[in-house]
Amino acid sequence: MKNIIIFPLTPNFSWVCQSARFLLTVLTVSFTLTSHAKLNIVATTPDFGAIATAIGGDRIDLLVLAKPTEDPHFVDAKPSLIVKLNRADAVIEGGAELEIGWLPALLDGARNPKLESGKPGHISTAEGVQLLEVPSTLDRSKGDIHASGNPHYASDPVAGKAAAQDICNSFCQIEPKSCDYFQANLKKFNADLDAKLAQWKAALAPYQGKEVVCYHDSWPYFGERFGLKMDVFLEPKPGIPPTPAHLAQVITKMKADKIGVIVVQPYQNRKTAETVANHTDALVVDFPHFPTAGQSYADWIDGLVKSLVKAFEAKK
Ligand SMILES: [Zn+2]
Repeated sequence: MKNIIIFPLTPNFSWVCQSARFLLTVLTVSFTLTSHAKLNIVATTPDFGAIATAIGGDRIDLLVLAKPTEDPHFVDAKPSLIVKLNRADAVIEGGAELEIGWLPALLDGARNPKLESGKPGHISTAEGVQLLEVPSTLDRSKGDIHASGNPHYASDPVAGKAAAQDICNSFCQIEPKSCDYFQANLKKFNADLDAKLAQWKAALAPYQGKEVVCYHDSWPYFGERFGLKMDVFLEPKPGIPPTPAHLAQVITKMKADKIGVIVVQPYQNRKTAETVANHTDALVVDFPHFPTAGQSYADWIDGLVKSLVKAFEAKK
């Protein structure tokens, strides 16, 4: 009886094992194909995220670490982000010390060799940009958080194009079979921006040389591109909160130079800007530092240009 029971079962058991093995192989292969079908891309801030989306299209899965309303110098580096970075094919950072307070710790924790400096999976877009305001002497004791030069270049569409080129180059290295697709997207991105850049310049042409007060030194590249002076700040130094003595100086300058517009970003203290505006009859303009979720890079810049034109018109 024993043999009768065992023998008929053995081939069946073996068949089940083989089938299970085969199924497992099929599942593993299909899972591998699926998981590699899209690149896992992490961008530190939403501006680079929007550019990565334009280039990567539906061939990337994107995670942006900083929220559009978050100060990029001080992002909440949640441990859960380490897991995401561990699985990433590439990380895109602005560089120039923008993320120095929070990204290195996350990358250390992620232990992902693909994201090491110098690898195609570590994209630092500052490398293709001529940085403004590079200090001749380094003195961190004064609290200045722009020790490598000003890192807020992404609002200049020409720098945006340079970042797109860097991102495309890296994507091509990581996923050569999609390179034609990425390059076609880059071409579209550049053509669209070139056309819009001409429109934006025309819209701001009547206001050349206009001064604008900013909360933080976030807009020198935007100002330079469009012929505006965005070099009076509510902060006495980048990263140092406004003081009454400094604000008094700003108010005096605004009255003397007839400056009528103050721009603020979502994470800055709008009340401080409003207090200054009350003393100077200026307008406070919400000026987002980043595209909102799902917003394209060009639409973000378009919104900035339109809100400034509107404010200048109102203050005529
Ligand atoms: Zn800054």
